[in-house]
Amino acid sequence: MIKRTYGYDTTESHVHLNNVYGVNNYKPLPVVIKKGKGVWVWDIEGNKYLDFLSAYSCQNLGYCHPKVVKAVVEQAKLCGNVSRAFLHDEQGLFMKELANFCGKDAVLPMNTGAEAVETAIKAARKWGLKTKGITEPEIIVFANNFHGRTTTIVGFSTEEHYREGFGPFTPGFKIVPFGDLSALLCAVTKNTVAVLLEPIQGEAGIIIPPNGFLKQIRGVCSTHAILMMADEIQTGLGRTGKLFACDHEGVVPDLYIIGKALGGGLIPVSAVVGNRNILDVFDPGSHGSTFGGYSLACAAGRAALSVIVEEDLCEKSAEVGEYFMTKLREINSPFVKEIRGKGLMIGVELNTKARPFCEALMKEGLLCKETHDMVIRFAPPLVITKKQIDWAVKRIKKVLEVKLF
Ligand SMILES: *Cc1c(COP(=O)(O)O)cnc(C)c1O
Repeated sequence: MIKRTYGYDTTESHVHLNNVYGVNNYKPLPVVIKKGKGVWVWDIEGNKYLDFLSAYSCQNLGYCHPKVVKAVVEQAKLCGNVSRAFLHDEQGLFMKELANFCGKDAVLPMNTGAEAVETAIKAARKWGLKTKGITEPEIIVFANNFHGRTTTIVGFSTEEHYREGFGPFTPGFKIVPFGDLSALLCAVTKNTVAVLLEPIQGEAGIIIPPNGFLKQIRGVCSTHAILMMADEIQTGLGRTGKLFACDHEGVVPDLYIIGKALGGGLIPVSAVVGNRNILDVFDPGSHGSTFGGYSLACAAGRAALSVIVEEDLCEKSAEVGEYFMTKLREINSPFVKEIRGKGLMIGVELNTKARPFCEALMKEGLLCKETHDMVIRFAPPLVITKKQIDWAVKRIKKVLEVKLF
């Protein structure tokens, strides 16, 4: 049963608490979630919604997957965090399973996505120094990237709002347009150590690069002996219908950066996965994290990886995603400019602001979040069924076809 706290059992009371005690760095829809199961969440007033955001793809397995819950609860009773000063028995197994999963040798576990990106940046810089003697390393990134919120990472964002007031920033990054091979080639110098990319740009509004671009990046990196670092934090682990979005072009990056769904929606777990010749640049004391790879994280990660395989989530994502896109394309709305996506990572770009549509969808029982003002992102848990898609499309159609204003 839903547990209620006297005096705080309405949406308004919690919106008020957030306004009074919270910091204003998000603009949430006014829905106060109490519990989730699979693709569904329930708010504090007992209303039920289908979640099309999946906590920005953390909930690929669906809310509270029993296998992940069990693994975390059992591990919580055993030891919690013992720190990296000692070993615990989940850590080695997690790293082995994740390395095998990615077809790589070594795993460096962290907690959040941004930390994993920072870890990859540090690895690339030290690798450049150790293997090529580069003392002023440059990393090439793409316009409209999103790699997290640390001061270094926002320093190479092209979104003014992410940067404004937070400088001075870390030097050593070159920004080129996403999808532009010649700009990428022009940006490579003798100091370049890596290219950091999202195979599909999520926060930018589900931007898919031109066909072959990932292969071209791989080619440039191999030719110039620089590292291809794929930020698959959002696109990875089945979201786009393949294990990694790089798989759509048969491309293997030097480093995978993963996070979000890796913790099964319960624990923040991220990792950099690559081969020893790169990750062995770290030695004791050169990098670390108090919670990175702690026992609950490893237990959650192991369970999440096994569910992805056992439940064929990549295949499901591909199949149901294609079905969903077909249904969305049948909607005849004057507001829709473009529908694009891969697997269950779908963006519907409107010719007007998306927020009022997200608010209207919420009233219909669908939770969606606009991204970059004009795009509605549809990224439900990968366990969603075609029947649930039908249920949702009926409501999406209603909202997109009706004249709202
Ligand atoms: C969410 C995200 C990040 C940042 O992850 P955090 O856990 O919020 O630090 C980095 N890169 C991509 C592509 C993301 O989608």
